[in-house]
Amino acid sequence: MENQRLLSGHGPYYGSDNPGYCPAAAAAIPAMFAPPVSDPSAPSAPPASMFDNVPGYEGTVMGGGGFLPPPMPTVPVPMPEPGQTHPDWNIPSITEETARDAFIMFASSKCCYSSDPARNGVITRMEAFNTYRYRLETFNESRSTEWSQEPYNGQPVDAFTQAVPGPWDVPAQAPAFFKDHTQDIRVPYTSSVKNCYVCLGMGRTPCKDCAGAGNKVCWVCNGSGYRHGNDRCSHCNGRGRDNCSHCHGQGSRDCSTCHGRRQILMFINLKVKWTNHIDVYVVEQASGLKVDNLSKVSGKEMYKDSQYLVYPVRGFPDLAVVGASERLVREHTANYSQTSRILQQRQTIELIPITRVSYQWKGTTYVYFVYGNEFKVSSEDYPAKCCCCSVL
Ligand SMILES: [Zn+2]
Ligand SMILES: [Zn+2]
Ligand SMILES: [Zn+2]
Repeated sequence: MENQRLLSGHGPYYGSDNPGYCPAAAAAIPAMFAPPVSDPSAPSAPPASMFDNVPGYEGTVMGGGGFLPPPMPTVPVPMPEPGQTHPDWNIPSITEETARDAFIMFASSKCCYSSDPARNGVITRMEAFNTYRYRLETFNESRSTEWSQEPYNGQPVDAFTQAVPGPWDVPAQAPAFFKDHTQDIRVPYTSSVKNCYVCLGMGRTPCKDCAGAGNKVCWVCNGSGYRHGNDRCSHCNGRGRDNCSHCHGQGSRDCSTCHGRRQILMFINLKVKWTNHIDVYVVEQASGLKVDNLSKVSGKEMYKDSQYLVYPVRGFPDLAVVGASERLVREHTANYSQTSRILQQRQTIELIPITRVSYQWKGTTYVYFVYGNEFKVSSEDYPAKCCCCSVL
């Protein structure tokens, strides 16, 4: 049985310098040691001759390079000043009842908080620390090229049939604004067929597991051909070697680069990447609430401006917002217009309500915060946590 499988596995060999395993010889010699075949080091990268010279794509390499600069951007046009909105923003934007309800909700959402302080604590003071959040988004498109390859299966070959469009002239389907997306596009008129450089057009490469021999030292008798003294090893029939299961005794396998097709299709792949870059500035406030909390809530949108290129906000009552807008618009223009193409920008200003609530419970004063449109609560000194949670 073993021997039959071995005989039927005697297939074509890769190259002429590797005789492989001969079953006839094995019958005569109990233990045979095939000489190890040095694995001819397969090239990791194709030779330069594989790459056609494509005008406009001279720097293109395998694995991709840097992003390609787009055509020059135009300059933004100043927009009318945003409406003068002066909300009376030092008045708490929530009522005492809302503050208490939010606090009770908060306490009951924690498994081991008693809701007693939230229900029965006496609110003594409500202060507003409302603040502004400015957000700038820049939605850009960047493009890079790379030489790519795939097994040749009769795909269209179009190299040199027409002039190749420039990297920024290849049409791409942009997603909706402000949505991240990537697309790979085969650049037209760059596809050509080449002999596979890994197997040199043979379609097969030496098996790595048996170094091309087609067989390996028998793992049962460890190559001796015998077990327990004079018993012939039944696993290898006393040969000392065992058929390589990875290549089915052939010593070679289908080339992994051309999948045994002997030829590969070379083409330039254009990688198009759409990214929404977001920067946020929150005006400092002195309530004691950690600013990180604010990233989880929304505010009241007071200003929104979306266009190809925005102009920094002007005439807004809070000068910190005006300064942040100037700085961020300048940074985004510098960062995203050189190596990418800006498709759209959006800037918003939100008023985020923050109310600092002081209350008394069992003779001691505590503080909690209610913030955001969602009435989120933060309470670091909640007085009735059970012991298992006190470490939180
Ligand atoms: Zn054996
Ligand atoms: Zn093998
Ligand atoms: Zn190949």
